[in-house]
Amino acid sequence: MITLPPHLQVHDGRFLDLVHPMSRLDQIADGLTWTEGPVWFGDHACLLFSDIPSQRIMRWSREGGVSVFRARSQFNNGNTRDRQGRLVGCRHGTRDVVRTECDGALTVLAHSNDGARLNSPNDVVVSSDGAVWFTDPTYGIISNFEGYRAQAEQSASHVFRIDPDGVMIAPVVSNFAQPNGLAFSPDETRLYIAESGSSHDASVPSVIRQFDVAGTTLRDAGVFATIDCGLPDGMRVDVAGNVWSSAGDGVHCFAPDGTLLGKILVPETVANLCFGGKGGHSLFITATTSVYCVFVDIKGAEPWTRSRQI
Ligand code: MG
Repeated sequence: MITLPPHLQVHDGRFLDLVHPMSRLDQIADGLTWTEGPVWFGDHACLLFSDIPSQRIMRWSREGGVSVFRARSQFNNGNTRDRQGRLVGCRHGTRDVVRTECDGALTVLAHSNDGARLNSPNDVVVSSDGAVWFTDPTYGIISNFEGYRAQAEQSASHVFRIDPDGVMIAPVVSNFAQPNGLAFSPDETRLYIAESGSSHDASVPSVIRQFDVAGTTLRDAGVFATIDCGLPDGMRVDVAGNVWSSAGDGVHCFAPDGTLLGKILVPETVANLCFGGKGGHSLFITATTSVYCVFVDIKGAEPWTRSRQI
């Protein structure tokens, strides 16, 4: 009989291969306001994450602790890296998607669609061909807490794709209430997108939807999973195709067929997560005022987290 620590909740025996009974849920940062956008930089042995309302991107390393990576971040929210390793982020304040070049300069990748300003880009992924996919809900313009209050100019809260050459931006899905986190399956044939619209409309289901990737377009493949506590926000996929999603009570892990395998219970509402750390076996969890770290016995599908690291 295995005794599990209180932060692990098993719903399917397969979950026991992905976690460890001696793992700890460590709080590695606290005193923040609304943490989001975790992204691992193994080449710098550090985690970057956003504290959206305080307009800062923070940096954490095991040796150096927490420091400010970027002040005046324009309410930067979700982050990822492109295949050149550059930081790509979503900013509510300037309502754009921005890339940080190797010399530190910022390049705006998208700020408008059809001649109108974006709502407030929330989360972003880059596919291996260099295309940038991002969600554009209205959270950053419905109050001054995590952006600047403004009227929406877009006809819907779209999901967008930017061509690898950066010239063409086009909506790929337009029937979300509020699209939020997104993540590709390991072979990039499927894109998972969180519907977080229940935050402001209880009639919207708290679900992760799945889409088949057909070139530059998406084909709706229905609901992948329902979140039974709170709502889904950011998520990541591991090398076996399991989907790790944020939820009200922690992180929910789903098999590729949508079966709930288990939960990592976290004492604060979780907004996002990412794989990384030494050997790629850490799961970093941004949860309201804190960031937590827990060992997982699998690596993330994103190339910069699955390779062998110091
Ligand atoms: Mg989000």
